[in-house]
Amino acid sequence: MIVLKFGGTSVGTAESLYNVKKIVESLTDDAVIVVSALGGLTDKLIATAREAAAGCDTYIDRWEEMALRHYRIIDDTIPDHEKAESTKQLITPFLDELKHLYQGVALISYLPGPTLDRIVSLGERMSSIIVANIINRATHVDSLEIIKTEKYFDKNIASANLTDKLISRKFQEINYPVVMGGFISSDKDTGEITNLGRGGSDFTAALVAASLNAEVLQIWTDVDGFLTTDPRVVKDAKVISEMSFVESMDLCTFGAKVIYPPTIYPVFHKNIPIRILNTHNPKAPGTLICDKPQRPSTHIAGISALKDQSLIFIKGVDELNFNPFTTRAFNALSRKGLSGRVHTIPGASDVLAMLIPTSDAATAVKLLNDEFAPELSRSELTDVAVCDGLSALAIVGDNIRQVIGLNNLMLNLLNNSGIRVEGYSDKGSETTISYIVSTADADRGLNILHTSLFASAPISSL
Ligand code: ADP
Ligand code: ASP
Ligand code: MG
Repeated sequence: MIVLKFGGTSVGTAESLYNVKKIVESLTDDAVIVVSALGGLTDKLIATAREAAAGCDTYIDRWEEMALRHYRIIDDTIPDHEKAESTKQLITPFLDELKHLYQGVALISYLPGPTLDRIVSLGERMSSIIVANIINRATHVDSLEIIKTEKYFDKNIASANLTDKLISRKFQEINYPVVMGGFISSDKDTGEITNLGRGGSDFTAALVAASLNAEVLQIWTDVDGFLTTDPRVVKDAKVISEMSFVESMDLCTFGAKVIYPPTIYPVFHKNIPIRILNTHNPKAPGTLICDKPQRPSTHIAGISALKDQSLIFIKGVDELNFNPFTTRAFNALSRKGLSGRVHTIPGASDVLAMLIPTSDAATAVKLLNDEFAPELSRSELTDVAVCDGLSALAIVGDNIRQVIGLNNLMLNLLNNSGIRVEGYSDKGSETTISYIVSTADADRGLNILHTSLFASAPISSL
């Protein structure tokens, strides 16, 4: 059996839905199809909810546009009139619910988190029903019944064991192909509607693939595979034919949008390969992500950029205290479920610097100030400071540390191009070297590194 995930980029128009239908109906294996909301819909659901909360009555027009888009896509993809009408009837209650939720939000001029979760869930709840009716003899499964989350500090995270059990039980006797919505879930204790985070449909598909011991997890999107870097930033990004699980995990953690980072772990754990494929060009071979990729052993797979980052500096750290202070800093951050990456600051050996998402920086600074209050009060440490507006550029490849001189080469390349490197990390990981630069320089930096690593005589084939 195989699991296929079609993202918003694959289910945005009648034409792409027709491709999805062709791909699925030509399969000979049992298949589970996980779908995202219609392309762009999640953003629109959120923006409209905010408009309603802000007292703009434009939410009424936005709702009508969304309703019309769903009805029109049904008309354009389901030629049988009766079936099209019955599919419309199936999604009408969801559209009504959406309208009532917007009206409620507008009435109280407030958008509570759980209400927003309920609003965004409607995208996948509707798209999965539509796709199940487009594909011949498909069974629709309600993801809210089987994908469960639990609270982790102020976040919802997948409740892995329970979800695994519920998926196995649900699929014991079922008629394939099955279609289900990605991204959406419900709280294991309260039953409240939750989700797995933006881009989370990939993760839903991985949870299902792992639970059912699928032969492969296929991620269908709008590019020809996992590329050496972000094609929206670097025009000559190239398709990577094979890469390891760890390489894909590192590239995604450092911002490669093509797969939602938590996706890799469940399938990696079960050694289930992932193939990235293009719905708009299904004949392209795509990228195989597996345990033992075929390629030179010392190799650079790709580069990526992680934006919206901050560096937190703990200043005045004595060399002898570096390791114990690092452990204390990690422990302090973990009290609120946060984590950071240690970076070296060029020319400042007494600074412990940690990279952290800007959205967590204020909390992190508070935790670190509390943790190191005794040392700060005795002036054994000078300061805990923060610098925002940063991005991490990451170069990823298994055994990258064996590429002798790579770090110095890249540092010189960035410096000589006038890009100031605020920090770098070349020791924390076997597979990734990262450089912290101002976000204003990130796209240019990515282009410079990509040209040097992947142009015609690339360093990546050393
Ligand atoms: P989907 O709707 O299929 O989930 P996403 O927009 O989430 O699609 O992810 C696919 C997009 O990721 C591509 O259109 C591409 O622009 C972007 N992307 C960023 N980095 C990479 C990369 N290294 N390889 C491939 N695509 C990438
Ligand atoms: N629809 C959700 C989002 O836009 C989930 C996904 O597409 O994977 O984030
Ligand atoms: Mg995605």
